[in-house]
Amino acid sequence: GITSDVVWNKAPCRFCGTGCHVQVGVRGGRVVAVAGDQSADVNKGLLCVKGYHVGLALYGRDRLTKPLLRRNGKLEPIGWDEAIAIIARRAMQSPAGFALYGSGQWTIPEGYAANKLVKAGLGNNQIDPNARLCMASAVTGFLSTYGVDEPAGCYEDLDRCDVLLMWGNNPAEMHPVLFSRVVDRRSKGEQVLLIDLTTRRTRTSAFCQHTLVFKPNTDLAIANGIAHLLVERGTFDRAFVDRFCNFRKRTEPPTLEGQPMSFEEYKTALAEYTPERVEAISGVAAKDIRMLADLFGRRDLRITSLWCMGMNQHTRGTAINDLVHGVHLLSGHFGKPGDAPTSLTGQPSACGTVREVGTLAHGLPGGLVVTNAEHRKEAEHLWNLPAGRINPKPGYHTVDLWKRFSTPKEQGGDIDTIWVMVTNPGQSLPNTNELFDASRKIPGKFLIVSDVYPTATVRAADLVLPSAMWVEKNGMFGNSERRTQQWFKMVEPPGEARDDAWQIIAVARKLHDMGFAGMKDKDGRFLFDIRKDGKGVPVWDYRHYHDVNVDEQLFEEYREFSRFKHKDLAPYREYVKARGLRWPVVEQPDGSWRETRFRFARFDDPYATKDEIQFYHSVTKDDRALLWFHPYEPPPESPDAEYPFWLCTGRVLEHWHTGSLTMRIPQLQRAMPQSYLEMNREDARRLGVGDGEVVILESRRGALELPVWIEGRGAPPAGTVFVPFFDETVMVNRATLEAYDPLSKQPDYKKCAVKIRRK
Ligand code: SF4
Repeated sequence: GITSDVVWNKAPCRFCGTGCHVQVGVRGGRVVAVAGDQSADVNKGLLCVKGYHVGLALYGRDRLTKPLLRRNGKLEPIGWDEAIAIIARRAMQSPAGFALYGSGQWTIPEGYAANKLVKAGLGNNQIDPNARLCMASAVTGFLSTYGVDEPAGCYEDLDRCDVLLMWGNNPAEMHPVLFSRVVDRRSKGEQVLLIDLTTRRTRTSAFCQHTLVFKPNTDLAIANGIAHLLVERGTFDRAFVDRFCNFRKRTEPPTLEGQPMSFEEYKTALAEYTPERVEAISGVAAKDIRMLADLFGRRDLRITSLWCMGMNQHTRGTAINDLVHGVHLLSGHFGKPGDAPTSLTGQPSACGTVREVGTLAHGLPGGLVVTNAEHRKEAEHLWNLPAGRINPKPGYHTVDLWKRFSTPKEQGGDIDTIWVMVTNPGQSLPNTNELFDASRKIPGKFLIVSDVYPTATVRAADLVLPSAMWVEKNGMFGNSERRTQQWFKMVEPPGEARDDAWQIIAVARKLHDMGFAGMKDKDGRFLFDIRKDGKGVPVWDYRHYHDVNVDEQLFEEYREFSRFKHKDLAPYREYVKARGLRWPVVEQPDGSWRETRFRFARFDDPYATKDEIQFYHSVTKDDRALLWFHPYEPPPESPDAEYPFWLCTGRVLEHWHTGSLTMRIPQLQRAMPQSYLEMNREDARRLGVGDGEVVILESRRGALELPVWIEGRGAPPAGTVFVPFFDETVMVNRATLEAYDPLSKQPDYKKCAVKIRRK
């Protein structure tokens, strides 16, 4: 029972990008309970099964508690001083070949510290996060459409829409609390039309009035089919388009700016996407394409589109993101509560730490980029760096980075050290045989991993650092609706585990002490010279790390960047009081701070002052969004006679990504103990395999064995199989493809060709 000696405090859930508010109960130095925060507006007191068990993620029996160094093939304990010195020496010896590989699970201050270490200090821009694998195409889609990243709307769209259209999205399992927000409305008698556009039936399908199953990769044809009918029938919103949009087509090579096209050219380009042709390409019936166009053609409805990995993990990811924004813009279903194209994120701070802090290889904080001379100048000014310190050349994106780490130096493998933090690339990179395992056989390569449990990546590492997690440290996350949330440390980390921000600052200081010039600003001060009462506090010395709130200091420095792209953040103290604030957050005459729910809309966004809608960072500098045409094209690999099945990979409700945390929570492990191959009944009959029978799945890149689950949690269509990626004993990414979108560089985990045979 929970007794009165339990102390409760607020935090966001550690798992997905929904960012549910939780109350964490602590007694005797341990987290003993977690409850949905009743006062909150994200989750209204609810949590999903992962959220209710999040406290147990701290207490798996095999937590890493000491730094470990590989000697003679074995990981052996060493001290922190030695570990930090080893990392600093690797960076000192080969600064150009030293990279950080981070995460949408870094807190905002951690990501900011890592970005500053690399971009202000090491000067090679070699930092990229795992979020490259999950939402980079959403970023390029927002940038190419509105000139600035992240959704215009917020979760309130889910309370106000009449139609919810899910594009390759399974929120019943991936964002269950958000999905229940919509389903709850129906149970109260409200009319909401749910439409599932999907490549396989899922648990989401069971709640939808329409489930439209399309052939993998053909979502571009469907979006074009809707746009074609809107234009041909004249049911698009001409007034909205005339006032707020410019038309664009792609160039070769593709760019975020594209090439202008007229409305007539746009209409001509769409002409071939008749409902019948779209049916032939996608498998979705022509009448259903007409039904979708009918809905978008109506002005009396509010329509919200949701998407996540299905559209982002796509070799045409930027294009399909552009097209879905385009359908909303063309039909004027934009900028009113309930009328919104909205992408969701998988990780708790993919938005806060990756997109806003700019931990992608080309990014700088606040939406600035290293390739822009003005942006570099601004960043150099805020970081007090000598002019020209920031390197204009972006670092390597994730696939390229790991390829270069997995290739001998003499063959172009110019990355020799990677420091991985808060992620598990040994299991989550695509084509892991090539991109991860190969590196472990090459002399001279050195893998450093900071983590909390011995993951596949940790087991391959040369140096392991034990990290503190979640409420074992202060933190801040930014969720899918631009909401920044803060929490305080509540319990001590186990053994010698330490905060990631401390690890980063300690390495920076060691480099400084070894004479690495990049670790000083232009006045000769250390880059992380954290001030208190006018004095620098030596936070790199762990005994002094908690003398100041390092998170607050880093955040206050970072928030200076947030005004450039109108992503204004409030002072740290405001987040201490609030359950999160959605940016831009602007100070009011009475000294209070006001968040923004609906961006670009004059009724809510303080920066939209000229018109009802104002795209104030537009690519074309005229406050208009870009409405793109992109043709449908076949994917890089499709089933053939030798590899006749489509393989789709993804998550399941019970598990957090690679299972590194949730497989250590007994309740979740027992609920979903192992991976499986979800297969259509007809395919199973044809192959002569029964439920639970172990089969061999093989692609051109790798093979694995796993049990069949006929129809599983939904039912894939004939010719498609689904395998989740949480189970480290069955690494499905040995089979997946590393082909990526040309702009976002995000790989496609949703479709490749495989064969299946009985064992
Ligand atoms: Fe946590 Fe996401 Fe579940 Fe909310 S929906 S409780 S944020 S895992």
